[in-house]
Amino acid sequence: MGTYELIVYGCQMNDYDGEKLAGIMEEAGYRPAPPGDIADVVLVYTCAVRESATTRALGRITSLARYKKHKADSVIGVGGCWPAVEKEVIESSCPHVDFTFGTTNLEDVPATVAGIRGQAASPLPDEIRLRRAAWPRANVSIMRGCNNFCAYCVVPYARGPEVCRPVDDVLHEVEELVGTGFKDITLIGQNVNSYRHGGTSFAELLLKADALCDGVFLRFTTNHPRDVNDETVAALGRCRNVARHLHLPLQSGSDAVLRAMNRDYDVSRYLDVVSKVRKAVPGICLTTDILVGFPGETEDDFEATLGVVERVRYDSAYVFMYSPRAGTAAAALADDVPRPEKVRRLQTVGARQRAIALEINEKMVGSEKLALVEGPSRKNAGEYAGRLSENKIVNFAGRARPGEFVRLEITGASSWTLRGEPAP
Ligand code: SF4
Repeated sequence: MGTYELIVYGCQMNDYDGEKLAGIMEEAGYRPAPPGDIADVVLVYTCAVRESATTRALGRITSLARYKKHKADSVIGVGGCWPAVEKEVIESSCPHVDFTFGTTNLEDVPATVAGIRGQAASPLPDEIRLRRAAWPRANVSIMRGCNNFCAYCVVPYARGPEVCRPVDDVLHEVEELVGTGFKDITLIGQNVNSYRHGGTSFAELLLKADALCDGVFLRFTTNHPRDVNDETVAALGRCRNVARHLHLPLQSGSDAVLRAMNRDYDVSRYLDVVSKVRKAVPGICLTTDILVGFPGETEDDFEATLGVVERVRYDSAYVFMYSPRAGTAAAALADDVPRPEKVRRLQTVGARQRAIALEINEKMVGSEKLALVEGPSRKNAGEYAGRLSENKIVNFAGRARPGEFVRLEITGASSWTLRGEPAP
């Protein structure tokens, strides 16, 4: 059939969809294009959560126009969350794009491409094998979509309502991954805590998956503070293989802003979850997402966010500046925090968080930790990068094989990563 190139932007759900799309293309007879070649089919899988994500994708899609100059019959498709909510923007600004597709109709892509190329589409098998791209790590989707409609977020519009995957399907995929040597498995969904299928709750699913994951780090993301219930906290305390890391998006430390964001929890509920989780799993690493500059966010609201950052002392935080997304409830509000002020808030909370992370990481120096070797270090040539249960990266020199666990003594720390050396 020819070759394909796949460019994926965005979150772990998009990575998962990208692996599925690659599997679909290969089942349909396409093979990956060698580096430097112009593929017969180029697919860009986009994110629309933030303006910066669509700007980045648009730059790349625009640059693909030159592919058509060199290879007029190449087919370019754009999929994912962005065309699901703003297809007309792509169609009007990128006439060289042959087709768009959303997040739910990936199996239709080969037939669409075949139609454009005037070819007959080959039938696909019932079960598509994902082309895993991050060995020894793998994601397992437990649900799609979201019912929450946070005021700033396009996901419920782009991915539709929450649909949970059957328990047996999830466990079968986990078992297969463990059997084929994957060592770090993440159960993913927009709000994994609201998972329920045939009477099985997320906590029960987690316990069942945990039982299959001996010798493997088991993770889950992302969490909604409203839905992390006592049953889940108790399960965390009982699981033997679940990694010592919880990503718990805060978004804002102000109750007024949380209400305006339609987040459906307040700061006291959030802190209650944090304290219960820390009691169940002492020393667990906590990370978060923070959105600054939401419409109406005052200096006091921002100070309240800083207050929660100081109080919780996160291991790391992704801090974003609010930008209106078409079609969301917040897009109807005045975007009234001036950009320079948004930048100042982003930098202020970022700097405070980096200092806290450094203090936490420095306290780890001298300890001994089990790390999963992921591959060559991105930071230091000739070294390896290992990931801890706490989801921190340790760079180290020495002999190692990707996919194996090694014991490392932590010898140095920065806000982002650790340094280590093989433990004696
Ligand atoms: S929980 Fe809120 S932020 Fe997360 S995907 Fe759903 S609507 Fe978006």
